[in-house]
Amino acid sequence: MSDDMPQNGGREDRPRILIVDDIPANIKSLNGILADDYNIIFATDWRKGLELARRLLPDIILLDIMMPDMDGFEICRRLKSDEDTRDVPVIFITSLDSEADEEKGLAIGGADYIAKPFRPAIVKLRVRNLLQLKLQRDRLEALTMTDGMTEIANRRRFDQHLDQEWRRCERMHVPLSAIMMDIDRFKEFNDNYGHSAGDDCIRRIARALAGIPTRPGDLVARYGGEEFACLLPGTDLEGAQAIASRLLAAVEGLDIPHAWSNVTPKVSISAGVASIVPSRDDQPESLMKQADAMLYEAKNRGRNRVAAGAGGKI
Ligand code: GH3
Ligand code: MG
Ligand code: MG
Repeated sequence: MSDDMPQNGGREDRPRILIVDDIPANIKSLNGILADDYNIIFATDWRKGLELARRLLPDIILLDIMMPDMDGFEICRRLKSDEDTRDVPVIFITSLDSEADEEKGLAIGGADYIAKPFRPAIVKLRVRNLLQLKLQRDRLEALTMTDGMTEIANRRRFDQHLDQEWRRCERMHVPLSAIMMDIDRFKEFNDNYGHSAGDDCIRRIARALAGIPTRPGDLVARYGGEEFACLLPGTDLEGAQAIASRLLAAVEGLDIPHAWSNVTPKVSISAGVASIVPSRDDQPESLMKQADAMLYEAKNRGRNRVAAGAGGKI
């Protein structure tokens, strides 16, 4: 690659565009048009293209059609059949300019189709318009996945993430762990300090919990009223127990007084931990059921503690 090829990276807050084209000169000319406004990443073969699409999740993909080994139509089909990349808009940029090719490109899910030789000003505007729509959709989707009161992930986001990580961990034969948490004696807290203080308490706990797990794929969500759930892909039961202890400690560290709790004079939570290596014979719900059973166990054993057990069929 020569020096004037796009350098992957740049300002991280800018939208990211992946260009897949086997001819470096084409990448260069598109880069010349778009690099002022966007972070450009590129690939000159389909393997690297698919890999970058999955790993870096660009906001838009500009895809050449005629390439060796695998054409752009097939690459697009693969992107559209992969849950992770399905929603990334694809613009075909190609010298195949027959009506049939254009129809095919749009039919398999391409968002737009630009024939070469392209006019730079038009490419720039089409990319801008498509990006506006895409980013707007991302913002709306993020809202539907966020709990309004605490601003952490909501139950819907958790369930979606659980499904995704279940399949990922199944493919990779690694454990998936879940922690269910519930605030101890919270009814008494509400009854004595008031509902608004209760809401405040839930917000502070949510923020504290969400800051504990840090690996990619980890997620803390508000699961219900005063219940939280944490998902830990690639983490076994022992590791998840350690995280659960840190989650309890984080709540304890908030030092929120609870004079009416018969557990401790501060607000505390109980946690149930379960872990499983996902398989086709099992369902994600079985993991959550097991975590819930362990939470019940933690409550029964006196609250303000962690109970753990293996998930799935045991
Ligand atoms: P335990 O230790 O067994 O969990 O006792 P608890 O009192 O926490 O359990 P219970 O399920 O009986 O009560 C949960 C309480 O949480 C009841 C409800 O009023 C309160 N709660 C649930 N969602 C919210 C909320 O969004 N805001 C406030 N302020 N309170 C809530
Ligand atoms: Mg409860
Ligand atoms: Mg409770």
